[in-house]
Amino acid sequence: MPDVAEILIPLALDTAYSYVVPEGLALAEGDVVQVPLGPRETVGVVWGLSHSPGGSNLRPVTGRVAVAPLTEPLRRLVDWIARYTLAPKGSALALVLRLPDEAAARETARVAVRVSGKPPARRTPARDKVLETAADGALHGKSALAKLAGVSLSVVDGLIDDGALEAVAVEPEPVAPVPDPDHPRVPLSEAQEAAALALVQPAATAPLDAPHAGAVLLEGVTGSGKTEVYFEAVAHCVRAGRQALILMPEIALTAQFLDRFAARFGVRPAAWHSGIGGKRRERLRAAVAAGEARVVVGARSALFLPFRNLGLIVVDEEHEAAYKQEDGVHYHARDMAVVRGRLEGCPVVLASATPSIETRVNAERGRYRHVRLPERFGGRRLPDIQAIDMRLDGPERGRFLSPPLINAIKANLAAGEQALLFLNRRGYAPLTLCRACGHRYRCRNCSTWLVEHRFRRALVCHQCGYAEPRPQACTECGTFDNLTACGPGVERIAEEVAELFPDRRVIVLSSDFPGGAERLRMELEAVAAGECDIVVGTQLVAKGHNFPHLTLVGVLDADIGLTSGDPRAAERTFQLLQQVTGRAGRGERPGRALVQTYQPTHPVIAALLSGDAERFYAEEVMAREAAGLPPFGRLAALVVSAAEREAAEAHGQALARAAEPPPGVMVLGPAEAPLALVRGRYRFRLLVKTERNIDLQGYLRHWLARAPKPRGSLRVAVDVDPQSF
Ligand code: ADP
Ligand code: ZN
Repeated sequence: MPDVAEILIPLALDTAYSYVVPEGLALAEGDVVQVPLGPRETVGVVWGLSHSPGGSNLRPVTGRVAVAPLTEPLRRLVDWIARYTLAPKGSALALVLRLPDEAAARETARVAVRVSGKPPARRTPARDKVLETAADGALHGKSALAKLAGVSLSVVDGLIDDGALEAVAVEPEPVAPVPDPDHPRVPLSEAQEAAALALVQPAATAPLDAPHAGAVLLEGVTGSGKTEVYFEAVAHCVRAGRQALILMPEIALTAQFLDRFAARFGVRPAAWHSGIGGKRRERLRAAVAAGEARVVVGARSALFLPFRNLGLIVVDEEHEAAYKQEDGVHYHARDMAVVRGRLEGCPVVLASATPSIETRVNAERGRYRHVRLPERFGGRRLPDIQAIDMRLDGPERGRFLSPPLINAIKANLAAGEQALLFLNRRGYAPLTLCRACGHRYRCRNCSTWLVEHRFRRALVCHQCGYAEPRPQACTECGTFDNLTACGPGVERIAEEVAELFPDRRVIVLSSDFPGGAERLRMELEAVAAGECDIVVGTQLVAKGHNFPHLTLVGVLDADIGLTSGDPRAAERTFQLLQQVTGRAGRGERPGRALVQTYQPTHPVIAALLSGDAERFYAEEVMAREAAGLPPFGRLAALVVSAAEREAAEAHGQALARAAEPPPGVMVLGPAEAPLALVRGRYRFRLLVKTERNIDLQGYLRHWLARAPKPRGSLRVAVDVDPQSF
């Protein structure tokens, strides 16, 4: 009887396909192979092997691909993700399997350039910029240099041709230098020491059959030293000869963090994020599979790296919404980290100053262990937080900074300290309106207002990226110079600040910062070094950063986000405000925060002012429980979208008719999705709510199998555990 292999292919296919294994090819589960698929050849993974009498009419496996096989825990993770998210199994495989790029793996040397000393034949501002940037005498990659100087690659190439820059071949830097767990380090405080010890203890208290016996919540106020503490768990893991993974929201992955790691372990860790280039990516992936990369720090996709010997996963800022992937396979990286930890048999540390309700409840109910750091390191106080009641102390018309906030900034500057003004709105103004005819500028593809960006002189959609020049005359009625910017974005706040404090150094930090990620990192470091007086920023600066000179945080509009109908709005806002106010006073001097609000008695604001997070969370948990929302019940969303509104709505209704919910299951909708039009597609949403003991996925599968199939431009996306509902 021939051997038959079940090959899973990383395409949107639900099942593995059968192929016959040719004589002489010894395959094992997890091997990466090449197989014919229709008229093409493709790569897949051996998911099962059997002897079968009916195998003779199958096509044969072409051969094995020379990359590390998928480990058993990784294969089980793929199965698990597909089962949990309802994504096709092949799509889940695509998260972990990347086609090998042989050219990249063979890379041995790269070319870098430095200043030769010979003056260029011709000088231009762009060329001068490059030469200035390269004047440090260091070796720079060509494109890195161009990026740093803010010019195109051809300028650098021109200077090489001219002889003003010389090209040098350099050995590639090691992708994953080995961290030294016993590198000299700062001594931990008693509380930190105890917490670190608790993290590396085997989970003695959790019953072995508890579903998440290996997960620990590390909860500590901002500045308590959670990072130092989980570094000890990392050191412990490295000493034991195993690999560690630290997951972070992308924005927290800064040079500052990598340097901090280097201060503890002697070398920078291997970093995995969307910014690392193809070749480096390939080499790092290979080093992870070979077990050579001992510690990887990465954004959510690092969770799918092929670790050979994983001994620890840390999820930093575990409450961050950025861990949820919202297209393709809809997964939550924190939850999948807990699953991967269980499959690998390794502990998972979830760190946060403001844990999510889900994690908090898991800890309270004993499903996770709970380790706390209730105080800031070194006896530093948490910032003193006060509200500014905008009804009484509001700013002048057309202004956004209230007199008490302005005075506080003045006092702060006089003391030579830094201030951060926080507004979670990119751009100049969130809405543009014609005063003559009342026309409001909206996106042509989405149900969103266009946001004015003054630096770009454009009106921009933050949903799809559509942009148009800001018109001189209203496009609707033709009136000249009568468009008005409604409400503030960070650029507008910066304008006001510059008028108030003309001789101060002000910087705006948001994801629109020109010059890309590298420039932004440099700016963040400059802020940390105290090279600026006032930072105006979005949530980009609210989290994770350590600015030692910062002693005042002004929140411009604490009420944003409280008005949305989303049941998570209060939790989100509370987390964000705690994080941003927690930026103040992390250095030598104590910090304070002033919060502009029209509703100082709102439970979220009241909890922030009193510092009584426990009570706030207790009430949120009770409200969730009463409403049967996660983690007390299960929730999924089906989003139906189509190019025509009627088609989307009609299909939503057809799905609803086929729902036939059994007892314990509730199907709501279809209703227009919160964003009813995105990128030219109309969206309707059905919500499925079930009791906790019900097999939500089983029900969904059954329902979708009997419901009419989407045709034409129709799509149905399944989102288990949606983050907004
Ligand atoms: P968290 O992650 O809880 O917000 P961090 O780990 O960033 O806190 O620590 C806050 C600050 O305190 C950092 O500047 C850090 O370097 C410092 N710090 C924490 N623990 C120690 C320690 N044991 N010795 C010296 N400095 C420490
Ligand atoms: Zn749009």
